[in-house]
Amino acid sequence: MARKHRNKTPACANCGTDLRKEFEFCPHCGQENHDLRVPFKTFLYEFVENITHFDTKLWNTLKVLFTKPGQLTKDFVEGKRARYVHPARFYVFTSVIFFALLLV
Ligand SMILES: [Zn+2]
Repeated sequence: MARKHRNKTPACANCGTDLRKEFEFCPHCGQENHDLRVPFKTFLYEFVENITHFDTKLWNTLKVLFTKPGQLTKDFVEGKRARYVHPARFYVFTSVIFFALLLV
């Protein structure tokens, strides 16, 4: 989702190869075509979006977490990860909720 908002560079920052606008990666060295010099507003927007934008993954994760807690770990280890929120992202999200509730 956040990939759509990324700025691209006309040349690879790693090897200097000219890149077309539609290239996601450099065809020469494989480095991602992503300009890291973004305005703070864009950085903040992407940060908030990455933390809060889960689609139905959040509901799938919460449902399995509360009904079959071991299934979530089992599915993750078996590679069935697309339907759930990534564990690190879920940890950050629940921490933000926890500390927000703690301050209330
Ligand atoms: Zn390159």
